Amino acid sequence: MALLQISEPGQAPDPHQRRIAVGIDLGTTHSLVAAVRHGLAECLPDAQGRVLLPSAVRYMEGGRRQIGFEALSAQAEDAENTLVSVKRFMGRRLADVADVGRLPYRFVDHPGMLAVSTRDGEKTPVEVSAEILASLRQRAEDTFDTDEIFGAVITVPAYFDDAQRQATKDAAQLAGLNVLRLISEPTAAAVAYGLDNGSEGLYAVYDLGGGTFDISLLRLTAGVFEVVATGGDAALGGDDIDHAVADWALAQAGVASSAGLSAHDKRAALVAARAVKETLSESLVAAWQVPLDGGTARVEVSRERLEALARPLVERTLAAVRKVLRDARVGRDEVQGVVMVGGSTRMPLVRTLVSELFGRPVLTNVNPDEVVALGAAVQANALAGNSRDGELLLLDVIALSLGLETMGGLVERVIERNTTIPVAKAQEFTTFKDGQTAMAIHVVQGERDLVSESRSLARFELRGIPPMVAGAARIRVTFQVDADGLLSVSAREQGSGVEASVVVKPSYGLAEDQIAQMLKDGFAHAEDDMAARSLREAQVDAQRMLLATRAALLADARLLSSEEQAAIGELLARLEALASGTDAHAIEAAVEAVAEGTEHFAAARMNQGIRQALSGRTLDEI
Ligand code: ADP
Ligand code: MG
Repeated sequence: MALLQISEPGQAPDPHQRRIAVGIDLGTTHSLVAAVRHGLAECLPDAQGRVLLPSAVRYMEGGRRQIGFEALSAQAEDAENTLVSVKRFMGRRLADVADVGRLPYRFVDHPGMLAVSTRDGEKTPVEVSAEILASLRQRAEDTFDTDEIFGAVITVPAYFDDAQRQATKDAAQLAGLNVLRLISEPTAAAVAYGLDNGSEGLYAVYDLGGGTFDISLLRLTAGVFEVVATGGDAALGGDDIDHAVADWALAQAGVASSAGLSAHDKRAALVAARAVKETLSESLVAAWQVPLDGGTARVEVSRERLEALARPLVERTLAAVRKVLRDARVGRDEVQGVVMVGGSTRMPLVRTLVSELFGRPVLTNVNPDEVVALGAAVQANALAGNSRDGELLLLDVIALSLGLETMGGLVERVIERNTTIPVAKAQEFTTFKDGQTAMAIHVVQGERDLVSESRSLARFELRGIPPMVAGAARIRVTFQVDADGLLSVSAREQGSGVEASVVVKPSYGLAEDQIAQMLKDGFAHAEDDMAARSLREAQVDAQRMLLATRAALLADARLLSSEEQAAIGELLARLEALASGTDAHAIEAAVEAVAEGTEHFAAARMNQGIRQALSGRTLDEI
């Protein structure tokens, strides 16, 4: 694959004037800001000396807000108004989020991107992220005693699509940050390890955070990184381990199911589970302790127990690693180094199992929480023109294929997934009718062959094609993806030179002033039709639950006894009867009942999934 040189626009900086540029890891769970000071990248601490800022914002009365630790400590008592993990919702619609039912938020569906209704009005994930970014910007300004941060490099997961990248850029803009570049998290981690100065070859970056797992393969050639493949699971991380620990500890404490607990108690059980899990990375025993029913529930947890609970989840990450290696046709022996990223890689079990899989010790000497921000800072410093050794090149890949709709609702792929960016590719099309003077161009994203199953990014028309017989016009459509992963598409009729183009700010992506307007409107109409919205929301939830459960039954009914099937059937019938009605609360309750009634079934399906992933392998492969 050809390597492309990325050159930065703009003039060379005054050599005497150092520009202050920061790297920001805008994480699902935590965010950090780092900068190169005295020639070394370091994370910038807050006034209390803490470098991690929990990615949490609490909206309070009178438009006040708490950000970070303060917000987090209020999470249990004010779950609805304390927004965490919004990175998962960036540039997403409600239908894109799988587990809305499990979250304590009042979601509001919007055509571009979902929002959450809080006591301070509706908040989009972009606004929440902007609060976090603004807080980090403030920290950097305080550290350097300046109000002129030249710019920031912000990291995003390698698989983030256009809408998610655009949402991240918009959040930065709202926070008053000049985005020098978005770079992928694994690339930043590899840069932090200085692998770009090391030997050429393949490297893997294993990133297990709070809510997500990402595995990336990078190839280093002549000091240049290229992301050759990415994979992972967007709904798997340390949080799932917390859930497993909390459920187990609750059962030990005599609480059969967490379903009956208040939101507050559930949260408290999870917070305690997380503390236990983190302690057990250092110690062999820890106590899970939660105030429940006027008393205190206390359960001892050993590391062995934690590992038994966490193991199935960690093994899911290993399956994803093997898949990426297979997809990229890379043997594990070809991988020259494995970088560990994300707080959850502090767990000894994770380190052991990943080392075993690759057959080599993993790299852990840079703090796994900080490594992404540190690499971003090195990049930011280079992009600001401060580094003497000149250009550092970074290459990312396209996470999902990009293409065009052709006749019959089919997708013609123009740029394949995992193609390195920036990239430009052109393809020729022609007219299908005699005398046709216009052509509709529909840009889609995804791996499916049918337009109806792909994500629609943009539509535009090429007009003014000179009338010709069908098939005579030569229309060249060019796709261009810039270094930030943003797409523009242009079409040109080769004979006459007529042209049309769009910059794709897909579905969510709107023009900048529209975004500002949209954010404002969010406040203005917040109270309007809350009731109507929550009804619609409940109905959508109900439909999704019905569909998902029926599909699961169709696939795996044999995992259930006939009594269990009947019980679930009854719950579904009740939900269906209510689903088109107008009682939002009743619908929600019925959805909740199905969720609870199918918990055991879901667990059985998951176990089966793991067994299937492992079947046919010998023991030492696992
Ligand atoms: P994200 O990238 O999603 O923001 P992080 O990389 O900050 O996530 O990782 C957060 C996760 O790491 C949480 O689930 C947290 O409990 C876990 N974690 C942090 N420290 C430890 C530790 N010492 N042992 C085990 N897990 C840890
Ligand atoms: Mg992370």
